[in-house]
Amino acid sequence: MYNEDSNLEPTGYVVSVDGACRVPIRRFTMALQPASGLLVVDMQNDFMPGGALGVTGGDLILPRVNAYIAQFRMAGVPVFASRDWHPPETVHFRASGGPWPRHCVQNTPGAEFHPRLRFPDDMLVVSKGMDPKEDAYSAFQARDLATGRTLPELLRVEGVAHLYVAGLALDYCVRWSSLDAVREGLGVTVLIDATRAVNVNPHDAEETIETLVRVGVGFDTIETLWITCKACAEEGVETRGTGVAAAERELAELEDRARKVEASE
Ligand SMILES: [Zn+2]
Repeated sequence: MYNEDSNLEPTGYVVSVDGACRVPIRRFTMALQPASGLLVVDMQNDFMPGGALGVTGGDLILPRVNAYIAQFRMAGVPVFASRDWHPPETVHFRASGGPWPRHCVQNTPGAEFHPRLRFPDDMLVVSKGMDPKEDAYSAFQARDLATGRTLPELLRVEGVAHLYVAGLALDYCVRWSSLDAVREGLGVTVLIDATRAVNVNPHDAEETIETLVRVGVGFDTIETLWITCKACAEEGVETRGTGVAAAERELAELEDRARKVEASE
């Protein structure tokens, strides 16, 4: 799971309460896998707090998701976004005997991506759950509405061999998308700081992580994943992690500006 470029880097020391014992700690930092792709799952209004099927903390991952998108784009990695795109009536909804309240109905505000998401213009959006007879929890069941191409087809076209997955919700669409990616023979890393679980049952998130670990899925965070921008990589210059701070700073500025606009209204 750890590639050859991974680095074992001492990051500090743990000191016991009495100061007598000092243990060095090291953690892995990971270089981005070759032939990577980023999949951002279902960052739609209905899955945000206050939405029809709101995930607790779903909005709190927005800065991380945006930072990942910026970083992966800088590294020249293709970014895909899936969305739930249901008809008004489907077996997926309670009204027709399904498990969920009505959510992400096509062309409604609830189905729109969160307005604070910063998606690149050329990002590939794939839609799922259009068939009134299926749930479609996996983005691998999704397709580009313009061309009819499925996500697995698009990944093949882009030459993606390793998929990084972020978004909502960990215990449903992130889980099933990751399992399908493994089944398709892809390497998979879940960006654990950019996802949240529904937790219909209290331990669903834990159970999901255990299941994913068992099939070989890796986990990473923005602090431990080192991404070098494409131009720098070509020149052999190391810029690991520097873009993260820039992306987060930019986002903080945007949020600050948005708050000021709100306050002046
Ligand atoms: Zn759905």
